[in-house]
Amino acid sequence: MAEEEIKKTIEIPAKITVREFALKLNKPVTELIAILMENGILASQNELIDYETAAIISEDLGIKTKLKKEEQEFEAITPDEILKKEDKAKLKPRPPVVVVLGHVDHGKTQLLDTIRKTNVVAKEAGGITQHISAYQVEKNKKIITFIDTPGHEAFTAMRSRGTKIADIAVLVIAADDGVKPQTKEAIKIIKAGGIPFIVAINKIDKPEADIEKVKKQLADLGYLPEDWSGKTICTPVSAKTGQGINELLEMILLVADMEKDEIKANPEGELLGTIIESRVDPQEGAVSVVLIQNGSLKIGDTVEVGRVYGKIKTMKDFKGELLRQAMPAQPVKILGLKDSPVVGEILRIAKNLSKLKKNIKKHRLDYHLKTPTQIKFKTKKQDEEEKEEEKKSAKTKKVKPLNIVLKADTLGSLEAISEALNQIKHEDFKIEIVHRGLGNITEADVGRAEAAHGLLYGFNVKPTSSAENVAKGEEFQIKTFNIIYNLVDEVTKEAELLLNPEILVETLGRVKILAVFRNEKTYQIIGGKVTKGKIVSGAKAKVFREKQKVASGRITQLQINKKNVKEVAEGLECGMKFEGEPVVQVNDFVEVYQEKKIFKKLS
Ligand code: GDP
Repeated sequence: MAEEEIKKTIEIPAKITVREFALKLNKPVTELIAILMENGILASQNELIDYETAAIISEDLGIKTKLKKEEQEFEAITPDEILKKEDKAKLKPRPPVVVVLGHVDHGKTQLLDTIRKTNVVAKEAGGITQHISAYQVEKNKKIITFIDTPGHEAFTAMRSRGTKIADIAVLVIAADDGVKPQTKEAIKIIKAGGIPFIVAINKIDKPEADIEKVKKQLADLGYLPEDWSGKTICTPVSAKTGQGINELLEMILLVADMEKDEIKANPEGELLGTIIESRVDPQEGAVSVVLIQNGSLKIGDTVEVGRVYGKIKTMKDFKGELLRQAMPAQPVKILGLKDSPVVGEILRIAKNLSKLKKNIKKHRLDYHLKTPTQIKFKTKKQDEEEKEEEKKSAKTKKVKPLNIVLKADTLGSLEAISEALNQIKHEDFKIEIVHRGLGNITEADVGRAEAAHGLLYGFNVKPTSSAENVAKGEEFQIKTFNIIYNLVDEVTKEAELLLNPEILVETLGRVKILAVFRNEKTYQIIGGKVTKGKIVSGAKAKVFREKQKVASGRITQLQINKKNVKEVAEGLECGMKFEGEPVVQVNDFVEVYQEKKIFKKLS
């Protein structure tokens, strides 16, 4: 009982990764992710949530929380706090940051591609080769930054950190399909993010497009379009033909102008950026894309991002051009961090590097060296029993990991698939969903799957063209499905490959040794009569003397009347070369056998 009492108050730092939080709650990470989702927070196990969120979730589960003081070692700040500290007089307008959301297949990717292709001026022939998860376009001499991760991902990071990365959302609704469940989900997320949105009614080139129907559906949801004397801005576009794209960009600038008091930063002020992409490149090391939000980032700056630090060695803009300095609202690819940071984390100038290093070391010892399954709230007895168990199983076999990155179109399907995959269990392997999320498969997903030596699956979603390119370049396979059963079946097949095969020994025949013609160090030439079954050249052999096994080896040559043969049948006499310990004597029996690997199936 006393133990129960103790468990009811847990200490949580100002920011905690989902994984660490799950450990504190003594719950499987997947279960916690599901609980977070129910609360509208999409976060993978390595993403951070703040104390307030963790406290609410804990309370719902009947667990009290206390803010852990010492964790202030990793100074908790929110971008808003930094911006609030800025001298108002020094704030200057910066480009608006735009994020695109909407139901799967409504054209988010195509829209982002079309805007990028038609509005980014590639400096030289060959165009833009370096693809990163954000880009900038120029319209009417003004810059707009687009977060090039269609779907909810950018917002996930934003909400989980309480960070505001986007100023405006574009909600894509296909005119031939109308408002769908994910459209509503996207509106909810945008509302929670507290930013204005513009509806892009897409695919108007299609004959079955029905713009008015979409407007009616929006009105029914309480978002009355402007031309119906409401406030919701709707612009018809075709991401395919480019029709209406200019108007959409103009609308974005208009909304940005209405919000101009908010869309400001001090380029001379304290550096603040948010990680919007993070992966490990085999050649380049930790590659991150950071969106600068305040101050400016310069080559040579020593920065900290959560528990990661490093000196900025190289900085490139989205076109792949080298930069010396990056300004607010500019997305840049940076090299030089010692490790890959978590998407959504805040980048700042490292203030006290030696303290940070010390804390990182301490923190690693606390958490990172232990896997989630190792640190649990356990009684001493449970702990001892488990250790015994572990020791035993470590001696006999290794559990092979099967890591999976899973992307799906809706929370429901994500949940259903995770649940189904959790049912695939066997002592030889362990399936772990290392990352799951909504929306199309991005470059970051490929990076995650590769880093985990895992498999990358999509359900009712597709890889973005850049994800496809990266995967192709690295010969990494992305598999997508639209039937849950097929996805589960595929994972089952992959898992079956990890089952330790059963070795079946099949005796082929026996030969009684009648003569030993030659003894060498590693082989003997012997002769005998097949008393049972058949002897096969190349087969493995065991030597028996009075029913005791005395040696083992292989029959590498077989002769009848000095002619090489492949097999000798029962009743016949033959000569043999026995390779193995040369101990065979007259009257011994040599038994030949074959081993069959039986690949097991998961029933
Ligand atoms: P996402 O899932 O929202 O990112 O959707 P995609 O951008 O991948 O588009 C889904 C499908 O719709 C693709 O086959 C696109 O080629 C197609 N599509 C996107 N926009 C348009 C459009 O404006 N007109 C037409 N006819 N097809 C489009």
